[in-house]
Parts: sequence; structure tokens; C-alpha cells
Amino acid sequence: MSTLSYIAAPLSRARIRQNASDIRELFGFSKTPRFPLLHVIENLLPQAFPESTFEVVDPAEMKGMYAEALPAAASIRIRNDVYMRAVSGSPRDNFTLAHELGHLVLHMDHRLQRLSAPLKLKPYLDPEWQANTFAGELLVPLELYKKLKHSKDACDIFGVSKKALDVQIKAWKDEGVL
Ligand SMILES: [Zn+2]
Repeated sequence: MSTLSYIAAPLSRARIRQNASDIRELFGFSKTPRFPLLHVIENLLPQAFPESTFEVVDPAEMKGMYAEALPAAASIRIRNDVYMRAVSGSPRDNFTLAHELGHLVLHMDHRLQRLSAPLKLKPYLDPEWQANTFAGELLVPLELYKKLKHSKDACDIFGVSKKALDVQIKAWKDEGVL
């Protein structure tokens, strides 16, 4: 259970994995272990969806947030220090961007509903759980992981932190797909 202020349409991990896989396929990266996230967000996404916008903004404008997605406006805004770290390959900041892309992909057509009071609800209704799940499934596709898991440095191959990879592996084991 998580305490939610917003509720999303229910999405399972399997369904979100399919959405992430569709995005990889759409941009031609089904077989590329390290998803070129910045290139996709900055260059390919605006070509595919001309109404989408990507903005790098001053920390003062972000009220303590690293980044935010405004799915209704197809817009991603990212704090400039987070952006610079993502450019230099920081796994954590890359995950933040993948999370925001998840909000765009998963929540653009299905408006989130604001709850009048925070409620304890199942994680699969939580837009933040959904966006994190999307980020993990996008950055480390299950089928590619199965092929490459014996490689020396899976984290480096996929461009994720050890923590993110461990979360992913545990989720797949819990789901019974690994
Ligand atoms: Zn979020």
C-alpha cells in the first residue's frame, strides 16, 4: 500500500513492460542494451510527437524537484544540474529522466485523478510506482537482461545503478518471470 494524492488507471508491471518495449521499438532500440535516453527525449521524441517539449530549467524554478513531467502538455522539465549529470552519464539522473518519460507515455491519454484526501491504495494505481516501473523496464529490458546477465558489468551495459538493477531483478523474481 502507498499513500496517494493522485490515482492512475491500474497498470500491471507486465503491461508497463510492453509499453516500454513499444517505445524502444518505435525509436529503433529494441536490441540496444543502453537506451540513448537523452537523444530520444531531446531529438527523437519531438520528431515523433511535435507537440512535445523538453525544457532544461533553473533550480530556482523547480521548487526542490529534480524534474517534472506535465503529461497533459506532453512536456518534460528537468533541473539543469540534473540534466548536466545525465549528459555525463550519471545512472541516477538518467533514471530520473526515464521516470519522467514514463509519465508522458503512461499518463498522457489517461488523466490522473486527484484524490480529495490522501488514501492508502495498491501500488499499481500509483502514478509514481508506474513511472518508476516504466523507467526500470525501459532501461533494462527483461529479454536483453536474460541474454546479458552473465556479463561482467550489467550495470554499465544498461547504464543503471546497482540499486536500480537489484530492484529490477527482485521485481522480476517476485513476478515469476526471471
Ligand atoms: Zn513522478
